[in-house]
Amino acid sequence: MANGEKRDYYEVLGIHRNASETEIKKAFRKLALQHHPDKNQGDKDAEEKFKEATEAYEVLSDSQKRAQYDQFGHASVSGAGFSGGGFGFGAGTPFGDIFSDIFGDILGGGRGRSHGRRGDDLLYNMEITFEEAAFGVEKKIEVPFAKRCTVCNGSGAKPGSEPKVCPSCRGAGQVRYQQGFFSVSKSCGQCNGEGKIVDDPCPECRGKGSVKDTKTLSIKVPGGVETGTRLKSSGDGGQGLKGGPNGDLYVAIHVKDHPIFQREDNNVICEFPISFIQATLGCEIDVPTLEGKVSMKIPEGTQSGKVYRLKGKGIPSLQSYGRGDQLVVIRVETPTNLNKKQRELLEEFSRISGEEIHPMKKGFLDKVMDFLT
Ligand SMILES: [Zn+2]
Ligand SMILES: [Zn+2]
Repeated sequence: MANGEKRDYYEVLGIHRNASETEIKKAFRKLALQHHPDKNQGDKDAEEKFKEATEAYEVLSDSQKRAQYDQFGHASVSGAGFSGGGFGFGAGTPFGDIFSDIFGDILGGGRGRSHGRRGDDLLYNMEITFEEAAFGVEKKIEVPFAKRCTVCNGSGAKPGSEPKVCPSCRGAGQVRYQQGFFSVSKSCGQCNGEGKIVDDPCPECRGKGSVKDTKTLSIKVPGGVETGTRLKSSGDGGQGLKGGPNGDLYVAIHVKDHPIFQREDNNVICEFPISFIQATLGCEIDVPTLEGKVSMKIPEGTQSGKVYRLKGKGIPSLQSYGRGDQLVVIRVETPTNLNKKQRELLEEFSRISGEEIHPMKKGFLDKVMDFLT
């Protein structure tokens, strides 16, 4: 853009020299909508007109710049806050703040150039049972959220008064300053990026425009989750500000310990104690599983620590199809607190028993003898 060819800013916007702030805004809004690049894809002429109108508005909407312009013309403002080349339309361009200010209510604030602030992410800690983790569960949870204040209708100003446009950033919420060749924008310190200043705050929300409330959400926990699993509920976090998107809600899963089951990957481990008599003679046991009892035959001579596998009785896979197994670990219990009669019988049993009934022990003792001699 060559400065020499610049049209008069008032002429660009089609307004008279003592137009009010509202008239300037209205004129720019009309032109900008007409020539907006989104509506005129590839139209160079429209793009030029749009840039021209934007630049004119940028100056005339700022009372200080406008006064300088009125006095000195283009010379007063060129180079003093504009980034010369690299004029773009994307988010983060120097003019983005103007767009969100002007178009916020028309274009719905989004479209990649809003300066609205994204809401906070929320983390909710959810405790569930072992069974719920295995098969999934739907739980209702209460999450906090900022509800629009009904007294001031979200403006933050006391009813009857109105928030005024921040003089520092002229309502954009962003201020720009020159740093070397670059025009840098940052959140306005005077209005905290809100673009507006409330002199007379609403008594209900104390000027914030929102009040704390809770909402009930239904969270579907899929089967297969474990402690440490995080579920994401998009958009259910804190409310965005100035048209910014909501944050996300994360649900962190904590699985309660189970009295008889443990988990290893997708397998369910269950330690099952049996007596040395049962282990010696064989028996039938009722093994608890996630879906009720399963009858299992324990053959005679079963050793402690023996693992039996119940196929497909484990935990469904969270990532894919299929299920883990249940592993039944046999624990042979050594009897304690024997009475006199029991002791005598065992001693009798020992006397009439040779080493052949304890092949493991015999084998081990033989190895020890070899090792020590
Ligand atoms: Zn209020
Ligand atoms: Zn401000």
